[in-house]
Amino acid sequence: MSLLRHSATTLLSQMSDGKLSSVELVQEYLEQIERHDGRVKAFLRVDAARALKQAAAIDDRRSRGESLGPLAGLPVAVKDLLCDEGQLCTCASRMLADFRPPYDSTVVAKLKAADAVLLGRTNLDEFAMGGSGENSAFQVTRNPWNLERTPGGSSSGAAACVAAAMAPLSIGSDTGGSIRQPAGLCGITGLKPTYGRVSRYGLVAFASSLDQVGPLAGSAEDAALLLEVLAGHDPRDTTSINAPVPRYSQTIGQPLAGLRLGRVREHFGPGLDPEVSAAVEAAVEVYRSLGATVCDVSLPHEKYGIATYYIIAPSEASSNLARYDGVHYGYRTDERAMHDELAAERKQLAATIGKRDFDAQADAVENPLLRMYRQSRSEGFGPEVKRRIMLGTYTLSAGYYDAYYVKALKVRRLIANDYEAAFRSCDMLIGPVSPTPAFKIGEKHSDPLAMYLVDLYTVGANLAGIPGISIPCGRSRDGLPIGLQLQGPAMSEERLLRSAHMFQRNTDWHLARALLD
Ligand code: GLN
Repeated sequence: MSLLRHSATTLLSQMSDGKLSSVELVQEYLEQIERHDGRVKAFLRVDAARALKQAAAIDDRRSRGESLGPLAGLPVAVKDLLCDEGQLCTCASRMLADFRPPYDSTVVAKLKAADAVLLGRTNLDEFAMGGSGENSAFQVTRNPWNLERTPGGSSSGAAACVAAAMAPLSIGSDTGGSIRQPAGLCGITGLKPTYGRVSRYGLVAFASSLDQVGPLAGSAEDAALLLEVLAGHDPRDTTSINAPVPRYSQTIGQPLAGLRLGRVREHFGPGLDPEVSAAVEAAVEVYRSLGATVCDVSLPHEKYGIATYYIIAPSEASSNLARYDGVHYGYRTDERAMHDELAAERKQLAATIGKRDFDAQADAVENPLLRMYRQSRSEGFGPEVKRRIMLGTYTLSAGYYDAYYVKALKVRRLIANDYEAAFRSCDMLIGPVSPTPAFKIGEKHSDPLAMYLVDLYTVGANLAGIPGISIPCGRSRDGLPIGLQLQGPAMSEERLLRSAHMFQRNTDWHLARALLD
């Protein structure tokens, strides 16, 4: 069997048993990337030399009998919005095309401390805003199961690279579904942890009250391995939860007796593709056959989820993205050209309105600082990011703050209350991840509302701060993966992973890899 088919868990034990070196393994993945990534375009950058050097250093330390970290020698791909000291961190934006952070994000620092090999940086929707990867300023990632289709987003490269066996593990971020949705559309496992479970320090902020980093992997078992490394308290993130990290990878095999699943009524309503519905219902039956009880639950405010999310997320984004002003860091417009243009405009204005009027008006017309801000932001950001900044600036503006932003916060509380109530009668919620399998590239790109509606079943977890996991549970007639979502109360990752594992032990949807089959 090809090495690329092995789980991360198996690869780690092969390395620790001395049957496999990290250099061999990294080479294997680099070759797979070489073979396929020209078409898939999951990676923005692969640093083969650095990865091989890290791998060789780990092999060397192993041969000397040194004790090694829990991911020793295993390649991990990182979404291009987590700081890695001195390395480019572009967020798939022209704005940060040349940005090299001077420090490590906590997540990257933890990967390094765990002796993981940093394979490369994966593509995303610009600043993680989007659901198809098409908003990247640099390239469009394709779904490895069908290159005409989107892999989902915003962690498009992170999902595609695992699905195509170009990395065993990857890191994504999820603000409204960006780990779970691409994992679902690419047929892999992705977990969005409880808000505060994983540090956001050094994660480039999109919507700070919703952003959460998490693992994408080939199975729940592998996701557990990675989450165990990522999770934990971080004094550098004030929203980080100070609670011990369970040994997810050790407990994952423990059986779950008396599991009570809540089938979310609102997640099986209009708009749900019949094939997705059938696959998810079949998964519900699998759980039933394994001894789980299933009851119907309702999340009555869920229907306001999209509207609420698309007020809160852009509001926070408009504030977070104010820092990209062309002055502190990031892209700055070509100032020489700008000054030449200003001089020409000044000259023309003076000729049109006469010297005296011109002196009175000149400042208002041509403040060079404002022009520099405006041009830097106009040229540095793509259309979706601009749309979010405008939406958010509007919803936070004096006249509309109460009507939109404050109202959205209130509805957010109602949505969180619904989840709390639901978890009184069941341990976990079960339903689809996305309303349809992977859609075509270009299909929704020019229709923002259609794109936003894809997030129907995922934004709730972010608004409520609870964890959710996406696991593959079927295939459409066209061979596209279908995802199943499980959601649990805050800090229930251990149980989510165990439930996902229970499903994966009894099914084999998660074993398929695109481009290998
Ligand atoms: N698709 C959602 C959005 O565009 C979610 C993005 C995310 O989770 N980063 O905002």
